[in-house]
Amino acid sequence: MKIQLLGTAGGDFPRVDDLADDFESLPRVRALGGRNLRRPAQAVIFPDFLIDFYDGDQLARFGIAPETIKHLFITHIHWDHFRPLQILKFAATLPHQLQVHGSHYVIEALKFANTYDFDRSAGRFLIREKPTNVGCHTLEPMLTYRIGETAITPVHGNHSIDKSEHMIMQDMCLNYVFERNRKTVFYGLDSSYTLPHTFEFLRQFRIDVAVLDATFGRRPIDPVTSGHHNFPMLKETISEFQAAGIFHEQTTLLASHMALAHAEPHDDLKDVAVEMGFTLAYDGMEIEA
Ligand SMILES: [Zn+2]
Ligand SMILES: [Zn+2]
Repeated sequence: MKIQLLGTAGGDFPRVDDLADDFESLPRVRALGGRNLRRPAQAVIFPDFLIDFYDGDQLARFGIAPETIKHLFITHIHWDHFRPLQILKFAATLPHQLQVHGSHYVIEALKFANTYDFDRSAGRFLIREKPTNVGCHTLEPMLTYRIGETAITPVHGNHSIDKSEHMIMQDMCLNYVFERNRKTVFYGLDSSYTLPHTFEFLRQFRIDVAVLDATFGRRPIDPVTSGHHNFPMLKETISEFQAAGIFHEQTTLLASHMALAHAEPHDDLKDVAVEMGFTLAYDGMEIEA
């Protein structure tokens, strides 16, 4: 199974383009360029799976023909992973019907965007005249779906949960297990510490490649308010997965979804990551599972 990480950024990536914004790492990220610049999190599992969709720019940048993409898996409804109008625009350019897979939240949001236009001057929704021909597939966590030779098992990520006294699950973020040819890939964006039921369920897998949320790098964060990991939290998660046998000695552990403003740049963090037992991902990185 060949994977390419087309984008590896956290949701603060647009701040790089605002040259008046000189918060912490931003001036250095701009000065260093290269792998220190990141675009929104997105990945291809060749030949025809795409994970998440901000836009099609990274497909073009890495020379992936749009018409090779047949299935789009969405992790969750945050705009850096899921932009319904961009997906519909992309789907309309393809010679085949794009199959979109995601939680109930994702599929309902996509269908809504395909049903209505918003008339800004009238302040009202209008029925969309020409809906895009797109296939919609609602996924449930902890069930396995088959597409050709690949088994896809979504699990519930710890993300988009208001953990205040309200305890509102605002979205069902899906992390994905992909199995093909006896190799297993885990796409774990976005998530903080693994939810207990998810962890117990994942014990049945031996993962060969894991793409993991390391959004904040070395920045201290509060797990109460964040739906992400920093490096010390990720190290805890990795240790738990190793102890449970979900990760083995040869598992490729990739830290992704890196903030550009709130974490240090790639060049400053890559050796730190290695010392902590994982590899810092960058846009365009290719991995063979
Ligand atoms: Zn995100
Ligand atoms: Zn998110």
